[in-house]
Amino acid sequence: MSYLNVRYSNLVPYTPGEQINDKSYIKLNTNESPYEPSPKAMKYATEEIVNSRLYPDPECVSLTERIADYYNVRKEQVLVTNGSDEVLYFIFTGFFTGEKTLLFPNITYGFYRVYANFCGINYREVPLEKDFTIKIDDYTEGNSNIIIANPNAPTGIQLAISDIEKMLQADSNSLVVVDEAYVDFGGQSCIDLVEKYDNLIVVQTFSKSRQLAGARVGFAISHEKNIRDLKKIKYSFNPYNVNRVSAAMARGAMEDTAYFDEAIRKTIDTRESFTEFLRENDFLVVDSSANFVFAKHMTVKGKVLYSLLKERGFLVRHFDTEILTDYVRISIGKREDMALLATEIVKLLKEIDEI
Ligand code: PMP
Repeated sequence: MSYLNVRYSNLVPYTPGEQINDKSYIKLNTNESPYEPSPKAMKYATEEIVNSRLYPDPECVSLTERIADYYNVRKEQVLVTNGSDEVLYFIFTGFFTGEKTLLFPNITYGFYRVYANFCGINYREVPLEKDFTIKIDDYTEGNSNIIIANPNAPTGIQLAISDIEKMLQADSNSLVVVDEAYVDFGGQSCIDLVEKYDNLIVVQTFSKSRQLAGARVGFAISHEKNIRDLKKIKYSFNPYNVNRVSAAMARGAMEDTAYFDEAIRKTIDTRESFTEFLRENDFLVVDSSANFVFAKHMTVKGKVLYSLLKERGFLVRHFDTEILTDYVRISIGKREDMALLATEIVKLLKEIDEI
């Protein structure tokens, strides 16, 4: 006997990238930062622990103010959440459950489909072009809400801000949500458009470019009325959604701009040289604006590559779907880790060649 509501009996939950603890892998499968949190983030965390007997500030005022200052918006335009997944859920359940169809690409962050099913949303997955780019005309007919990741995952491809503006202008009564989880690695943010378009919500995270995947902090920036509406959802669900230590860490990460800039620079440099290496070794690599590369080898299948690399101590991500099966997604680690990976790939390709 299952006690689960029948409504959820066919639910297909999200499958996170493997988190294996039994063996030490070089972990390049969930797009975390390879660098430690900023020293300032760790200092603030240490200072905050003692206050943990008290509930956190439900409004997360000091962190919200830092984010607002950094992005040059008002604090009333910012909502901080427990990872960006949480604010995505608030958006899906709060804004996307109405009459309108929700559009998103057929290849994108897997959670959109999961949340859409979970919330009973009427949605359509719009096929990408063969080169994994978005055909903008598919999103400008109006009367549909839209969510896109920009840069997209798992491709790393960036959509031009002018194209996002076309989506926004197509129907001011429909929402456009832009998930900018990877924007800091060379993409262009559309936060500046929030002032002009009240149908835009931008979502970002501290999990990738700010080294805090384990602290779970994300945020949305939008028109004040949308933030007020999102708060209605938050306060109906979990007012204390961001814990004290995580909020303190995120505040430190936000203040430590030099550390942030340096980590971004290193990641981009490493991505570019690793991309070059892959291309020299018969990989087709999608041009990435993110902290990962999406690549397929001319002859070795994605699943084989994934397994052989796992045997050798490297975790990368393989998506076992028809369109993506030839590919692997490799997060950009430290320069020395990518050098080890490159050496291993050369060896592995040579071994396969000799069979
Ligand atoms: N959006 C995208 C496109 C992602 O890849 C991820 C992380 N897998 C998230 C949102 C969620 O990130 P978090 O909840 O850690 O902020």
